[in-house]
Amino acid sequence: MIRVEPIPIYSDNYVWCLHDNSSAWLVDPGEFAPVESFLTRNSLKLKGIIITHCHWDHITAVPEIAALYEVPVYGPEHPSLDCKTVTEGDSIEILGTPFTVWHAPGHTLEHLIYYTNLTKTPMLLCGDTLFSVGCGRIKESGDVRQLFASIKRIAGLPKATLLYCTHEYTLANIAFAKAVDNDNTALLEREQEVEQLRKRNKPSLPTNLEQELLTNPFLRCGEPIIISQCERHSKSHLRTEEEVFVTLRGWKDRF
Ligand SMILES: [Zn+2]
Repeated sequence: MIRVEPIPIYSDNYVWCLHDNSSAWLVDPGEFAPVESFLTRNSLKLKGIIITHCHWDHITAVPEIAALYEVPVYGPEHPSLDCKTVTEGDSIEILGTPFTVWHAPGHTLEHLIYYTNLTKTPMLLCGDTLFSVGCGRIKESGDVRQLFASIKRIAGLPKATLLYCTHEYTLANIAFAKAVDNDNTALLEREQEVEQLRKRNKPSLPTNLEQELLTNPFLRCGEPIIISQCERHSKSHLRTEEEVFVTLRGWKDRF
């Protein structure tokens, strides 16, 4: 059985460690010391590394860790990453379980996410595409319409799917979501839950798709309340769910 544990790095990143109490894989090891100490402390033998995208906080420690443990690195084709390149439709076997590679551009052009429904609960390693109650910003090579399409695709996964996002942004995301969707009981309940978790220094992640469909405005762009709030904000008539999403992303950028 695969266990998944977060290794906090920098101020708000998580490196997800998938392991079976003996062998381990890492997702986006951006910093060396906390990752190395986690593996040593738990007597885990590293078998491989997967990368979602090539921002420095996701890949900085990759060459050092890959060399130290002599393990393969799988990730997108990108000038800043030396790895075995994978792309849409490929499969990577992690601890005996195949994960399917999806190309999920938007935050950045090369962004990959990794999905399996062959674990007890389906799981998605979603990097900076989707966060709890939020989504990734559009960075240098990114595109907001591509991000909308990537997130719509995620929205079609089974509701129980666990979402392993790579930043602890949930409380800040909730503050924005409340400005848009303040009468949403599920959102207010999620705020209380996350406040309690963060007080105890516990992660608010993973989340699951069912909870996000109820609370995350970026997954709710077809809901009347989100449409009307975005139309009020933009002072324009929004004709499609994509236009609502683009407006919402721009609103959050300046929030
Ligand atoms: Zn990023």
